[in-house]
Amino acid sequence: MEATQQRIGDMTKQANWQKEKHVPVIECAERVKADEWVHVKVTLGKAVAHPNTTEHHIRWIRAFFTADGDKVIRELGIFNFAAHGESTEGADKGPVYTNHEAEFSFKTSKPGTLHALAYCNIHGLWESERRLDLD
Ligand code: FE
Repeated sequence: MEATQQRIGDMTKQANWQKEKHVPVIECAERVKADEWVHVKVTLGKAVAHPNTTEHHIRWIRAFFTADGDKVIRELGIFNFAAHGESTEGADKGPVYTNHEAEFSFKTSKPGTLHALAYCNIHGLWESERRLDLD
């Protein structure tokens, strides 16, 4: 039997964020001026909340940008969410939780596509994208 090799892209899930709680939601302007800062917010579970417990939570969100005509995807940021109620008393007994949301700014001289990846410790890798045009 021949072993199969999976690529990351084969294992990255997409869905409608209004129905599926794992899909990252990218919020930013639809059009901006070239080389002006674009404020971006990436959240998760906007329509259907995702759990945030020691056993089940979002570990990180990463954001990328592909400028039109660029052969290389550009990483914009890595946002780790490290606290999920861990405690010596046991799971979910701790006082501290990090919420799975990321805000940042970036600028670009070319229009393109914003990409977001989110990783759930139980349900794996999810992606979404959003078009960004320039005036
Ligand atoms: Fe999950």
